[in-house]
Amino acid sequence: MSENKPSNFIEHIINADLAEKKYEKIHTRFPPEPNGYLHIGHAKSICLNFGIAEQYGGLCNLRFDDTNPSKEDVEYVEAIKEDVRWLGFDWEDREYYASDYFDKMYELAVQLIKDGKAYVDDLSPEEIREYRGTLTEPGKESPYRNRSVEENLDLFERMKNGEFEDGSRVLRAKIDMRSGNLNMRDPVLYRIQRGTHHRTGDKWCIYPMYDFAHPISDALEGITHSICTLEFEDHRPLYNWVVENVKLDTETRPKQIEFARLNLSHTVMSKRKLRQLVEEGHVSGWDDPRMPTISGLRRRGYTPESIRDFCDRIGVAKSNSMVDIALLEHCVREDLNERAPRVMAVLNPLKVVIENYPEDRVEYLEAENNPGKPEMGTRKVPFSREIYIERDDFQEDPPKKFFRLAPCREVRLKHAYIIKCEKVIKDEKTGEIVEVRCTYDPETKSGSATNVRKVKGTLHWVSAKHALDAEVRLYDHLFTKENPEEDGADFKDHLNPNSLQVLTACKVEPSLASAEPGNRYQFLRKGYFCVDPDTTGDRLVFNRIVSLKDTWAKIQKKQQNK
Ligand code: ATP
Ligand code: MG
Repeated sequence: MSENKPSNFIEHIINADLAEKKYEKIHTRFPPEPNGYLHIGHAKSICLNFGIAEQYGGLCNLRFDDTNPSKEDVEYVEAIKEDVRWLGFDWEDREYYASDYFDKMYELAVQLIKDGKAYVDDLSPEEIREYRGTLTEPGKESPYRNRSVEENLDLFERMKNGEFEDGSRVLRAKIDMRSGNLNMRDPVLYRIQRGTHHRTGDKWCIYPMYDFAHPISDALEGITHSICTLEFEDHRPLYNWVVENVKLDTETRPKQIEFARLNLSHTVMSKRKLRQLVEEGHVSGWDDPRMPTISGLRRRGYTPESIRDFCDRIGVAKSNSMVDIALLEHCVREDLNERAPRVMAVLNPLKVVIENYPEDRVEYLEAENNPGKPEMGTRKVPFSREIYIERDDFQEDPPKKFFRLAPCREVRLKHAYIIKCEKVIKDEKTGEIVEVRCTYDPETKSGSATNVRKVKGTLHWVSAKHALDAEVRLYDHLFTKENPEEDGADFKDHLNPNSLQVLTACKVEPSLASAEPGNRYQFLRKGYFCVDPDTTGDRLVFNRIVSLKDTWAKIQKKQQNK
């Protein structure tokens, strides 16, 4: 058991419960509905629920909240399991489904009817809405509210047997149509809905509502703290009503605690909206590297450690707010700075010919894999007469403070020599620079005793005849606006048309020949990159995870200076 000081209000509640001996062992759950892929907001909930269990020596269940057959699918169940595992959490043998409890829930509903606490209502969905009243007006009782127990039992059974049309009747709790809380005005517990369920098939044509199924599932599993997002705060009295009024043979009384959901800038965070982006083809799929889904972040190259670190840093609170996506980027940058080997890759190649370097000579130069981590070792990088540098590392007519290559100027080639630009060769028709002619100074080899001269700029490069071809995909925010839904706008109006840029003529150093999907690298001066699964034997494909420019550090500095 943890004796640490509580680091948030949830731990505070748990500590108090433990001090009062309300619960012996802490038991949480992560309860996704399998109607889409998980997103980074779910990661917050996963880290919180599994994290609390771990911290208090308790348990956390994985429970699929599968009470709506029309939107759910095994594809999503499998994807969710993969994502939770990838984040580094283990539910052991505690994989549960709300649908496992359908028989029990039905039995409990029958008991509620017998106790006079539930009734079958024939009002249409529209009428139910009308009768419910508003925040300022009390609701009206349904004319069917005072049916006899016998009639209710008979109708409910016939609902189950499929005698009635979808939506023609519901089972409602008999609570209080005048309650100040709309959720307590005889909430619907069961609805008729035909559709094949991914686990129970066609066995049922009535399905329990979330507000009924969730507390029962929690109680049956012995959950002590049922942690959910703030929009369920007003449902808490109903949650407690269900726990108190259904006849369970368990002693545990789960407690619902709400926290603020994660909102991230420049993206949307709801499975429904993310599905829209997929189905309407705005992205290539749920795992498009621009998506805020766990599978998208994984494909992009995010590490599970960086996502867990992010969830740690944002913490949990009681009021909604928006987190800058730059913080997420900052977390992966910090993680990869430690772990990613450095390599050289030229994204927009410009050929450089070193005129005084022998034509058939090749030198294998020693290059460190991570300057901050000597234990990560070194590799050999081939150097030869023809190399590529970045097109924007050369300017014919450079502005002040341009310390890269320009006519008659010198730069250092990383791990190699100082070169000097002697001549520029242009396409006769277009005037475009097609090649730069240089000379090198043999005395300036990196690491050699004669290397004493210093120059201002150092460029990355690759040897032309040794380089591998690669495609590199650069990403920008999926939405141009920080909050794409501000002022009730249609979020799709703010899709960023430039969120994906594909560079197909990139050249990377030959050590990357053995790179496999999922491997991550720092391309010197260009950012962190991950090998995409689209990679084939003769075509390397990389995703840029993040550039090296840390906008979060800037934001923080600005805040500190205020
Ligand atoms: P969505 O609107 O994206 O479908 P949801 O809440 O309906 O979200 P569920 O599958 O029901 O999705 O969520 C599983 C768990 O994850 C719930 O406990 C929910 O509160 C939590 N969760 C969902 N979105 C977020 C978020 N943005 N931040 C934190 N927790 C979240
Ligand atoms: Mg949902």
